[in-house]
Amino acid sequence: MKFNLKSTKEIEESISRVVEICKENNLVFTEIRQKVFEIIIEHTKPIKAYEILDDLTKILGKSSHPPTVYRAIDFLIENGFIHKLNSINSYVVCFHPKIHKECYFLICKKCNIYQECCDKNLTDNIFKTADKRDFIVSNTTLEIEGHCQGCVEK
Ligand SMILES: [Zn+2]
Ligand SMILES: [Zn+2]
Repeated sequence: MKFNLKSTKEIEESISRVVEICKENNLVFTEIRQKVFEIIIEHTKPIKAYEILDDLTKILGKSSHPPTVYRAIDFLIENGFIHKLNSINSYVVCFHPKIHKECYFLICKKCNIYQECCDKNLTDNIFKTADKRDFIVSNTTLEIEGHCQGCVEK
């Protein structure tokens, strides 16, 4: 199984895609929003809010006002650029922002490495299931816990 080991090229592409989406949608990608996004994407594992704050302090050379950082995180979530993984209270980037809102994650309980997996059949089934119960889905982030191959072999 291949995990999200992001290359510099992939990181650069993701950042420019987000910049483009912001331009197209008249969203202001402020310096702090961009820095927070970069910190999250450069982290190979899901990152917690306090770790984002720590990294930001290191990059900027001064501590930032936590509410400003939380607002930047909210902006990134609202626009589908990142996801919050509630089970581990951490953030990860979305690798296909604005393409679809249904995102599924495989999370290793041991090393916390994650993979975003898209599956049209799964999405169809979720919508069908909800539809049967007259329920309208607005957003789906599914967290599947287990062990990655590396951790199983150890
Ligand atoms: Zn996603
Ligand atoms: Zn693992």
